[in-house]
Amino acid sequence: MKNNLFGYTLEKLQNELVLSEFKKFNATQIYEWIYQKRQLDFELMTNLSNPLKNHLEETFSLDLLPVITKQTSFDGTTKFLFKLVDGYSIETVLMTHDYGLSLCVTSQVGCSMGCTFCASGLKKKTRDLEVSELVSQVTSVEQLLGIKITHVVVMGTGEPFDNYDNVMEFIRVINENHGLAIGQRHITVSTCGIVPRIYQYAKEPIRSNLAISLHASNDDLRTRLMPINKRYPLKEIIQACKVYFEETSRRITFEYILLKGENDSIQHADELSDLLRGLNAYVNLIPYNVVQEFSHEKTDVSRAMAFYDRLTKRGIIATMRKEQGTDIDAACGQLRMKTDKE
Ligand code: SAH
Repeated sequence: MKNNLFGYTLEKLQNELVLSEFKKFNATQIYEWIYQKRQLDFELMTNLSNPLKNHLEETFSLDLLPVITKQTSFDGTTKFLFKLVDGYSIETVLMTHDYGLSLCVTSQVGCSMGCTFCASGLKKKTRDLEVSELVSQVTSVEQLLGIKITHVVVMGTGEPFDNYDNVMEFIRVINENHGLAIGQRHITVSTCGIVPRIYQYAKEPIRSNLAISLHASNDDLRTRLMPINKRYPLKEIIQACKVYFEETSRRITFEYILLKGENDSIQHADELSDLLRGLNAYVNLIPYNVVQEFSHEKTDVSRAMAFYDRLTKRGIIATMRKEQGTDIDAACGQLRMKTDKE
């Protein structure tokens, strides 16, 4: 079987080529062809020698993920359903912002974290996505629409820190200057709080952004909403975030879904601001997107504003996340995996 070239970092490709008696700089040329000139036919990579083209042809494939469906929301958000080789399918969401085009990438087939508000966790994880499947989400969308993705958020289905090595390798590929060149500050990884991986992430040479799905201001509440909190309670998460901040000096985003009557009172806002004090935190308040299978309700606007005001009054920087793509089930927490049988 040929190896999918989308799974290769520049360094890995250089090593492979040198082992096969080609030159290190050939890897750079190939990267530029694939990612910058969007040429996926080895034969047409005109500055490569014939022996090298033959070697590439024999060794590598450049298969993109095939699209099953593409839906566009009235607000321009587009959701893609991609087919994987083993019959599963995954969802990827493209969002238009005033600062550019942002792609929300899926990291696993299903998710085993079991958050009680998220459709992605309704089916347990079947497997991790390969590096090539992560990269292909970006390249497929770029090729299909003839666009340039400027921002990537690993916030689709799955827990990226439960597929840590592949997600980091993915970041190395898309960050590469000779390739997609997506800047480290334009890449964000969101986690439900796998503490040992937060420490590991703090040491990564590529300083992509960290977002923590917090959603609660105390352990009782968080454990009810997110079972992972039993394993990694708030105190440990906050401690890891402190170390991350000391190490990287990067502001951390804390995501907080407002759930009516559950975590949205003024007392909760006070508790949350105490919890985050001194952290250079940024709170992203998220309107709850309805998922049929769950009984949570969305906080109404006036209460959400009161929560926001209270946080900012107590010195916590906060924003309200804009809802995008709810009409096509493409919003946060609405992505699902599907199988051939459905
Ligand atoms: N597993 C990672 C990556 C998924 S990110 C994580 O937990 O961070 C998806 C984001 O959408 C998370 O912040 C998640 O908590 C949020 N989310 C999940 N269900 C939602 C819903 N129904 N409404 C709004 N946001 C939701």
